Amino acid sequence: MLPSNSKYHRKGFGLKDQIQADLSREYESDLIASIKQNNNTICHAGITIKLAQAFGFCWGVDRAVSMAYETRRQFPEKQIWITNEIIHNPLVNDNLREMEIGFIPISDEGNKDFSLIHEGDVVILPAFGASVQEMQLLEAKNCEVVDTTCPWVSRVWNRVEKYKRTEFTAIIHGKYNHEETVATSSRAQHYLIVQNLSEAEWVCEYILNGGDSNLFIEKFKDATSIGFQPEKHLQRMGIANQTTMLQSETEQIGKLFEKTMLRKYGPTNIDEHFLSPGDTICDATQERQDAMLKMVEEPLDLVIVIGGYNSSNTGHLHEIAVKHKLQAFHIDGPDCIGPGNQVSHKPIGSTSSILTKPLLPEGDLTIGITAGASTPDQVIAGVISQILEIRSDSKISVSNVHQ
Ligand code: SF4
Repeated sequence: MLPSNSKYHRKGFGLKDQIQADLSREYESDLIASIKQNNNTICHAGITIKLAQAFGFCWGVDRAVSMAYETRRQFPEKQIWITNEIIHNPLVNDNLREMEIGFIPISDEGNKDFSLIHEGDVVILPAFGASVQEMQLLEAKNCEVVDTTCPWVSRVWNRVEKYKRTEFTAIIHGKYNHEETVATSSRAQHYLIVQNLSEAEWVCEYILNGGDSNLFIEKFKDATSIGFQPEKHLQRMGIANQTTMLQSETEQIGKLFEKTMLRKYGPTNIDEHFLSPGDTICDATQERQDAMLKMVEEPLDLVIVIGGYNSSNTGHLHEIAVKHKLQAFHIDGPDCIGPGNQVSHKPIGSTSSILTKPLLPEGDLTIGITAGASTPDQVIAGVISQILEIRSDSKISVSNVHQ
């Protein structure tokens, strides 16, 4: 349940008109607007760049960033904090720091230092939400809370809270250390987080054929609720997910658990043991994944995926390109390109970026570009300019590019 008091804000403060100029200046781009008008294509010096049909800032991110800007206007004199990155984009987070919005420090062990927050301070909760424990702590501190949690995330929370009320275990398809999944799991009584299909298969095998419960507990020690007992807590389950996972995988995992519970308990008893997941992959994630699946069917020499390195939905767009055996680079902004014809990028599964050169091989090229839901147009435009400048003596602008 969400708090309901005058210090808890779930909407902006009616200051949209006052912040619009700042948002346009910092995040929008004439170049991208113009490429969109040209069927998402731009050609220059033998390079054709095709933008996916859906990319970049989603509705939920747009809303969260606007609310943060409005919060600064609404409380000009107050100390403002944010419990985490508002979204996974370095530019946006740097801009918030410049607006003197403080990020709550996190220790190497992952613990947040809430002692810096005092009564009367304002605290912004990011688009992927906050855990129940954090929200209780902030309420106890008598802070002004601005909750930018995306409604798509809240939808999943409602589902998990329903599982809790009916004593079903929440099986969450997500990354156990992702902020959204931490917040979602905090709303469950019992939970198990599976990161991918192969982990789900392992669990289903255990459900059907049994196994060593100590091994189970060790394998999922970071991904289960306190006191989780596989024999007991895998008898009744419902599926939930991090909203930005790969949609096809979430569906496969849901079906696999349903089939497993059907085999174990039979069709007449299934309702006592399994609750179907419903549709909880958010629209924006789905649209971007669908657009990417369409784009990779076209003949492309190269794919660039832009977004924060800790952005889950961006990572999944990258995976789609790699699965289609395309040369694909995940970068987090224009600075990853250059100097010269090289790119600093993060391979799938790697914790750090590596350098690859050349970025652009010889000859005419068609490059597909997409961006995760937390990437502003201005960052995408910067990347396009950097790519085109590799083959150009002149700076790229809308006016000197053939569209
Ligand atoms: S990606 Fe989806 S869940 Fe995340 S903020 Fe955007 S709309 Fe909301």
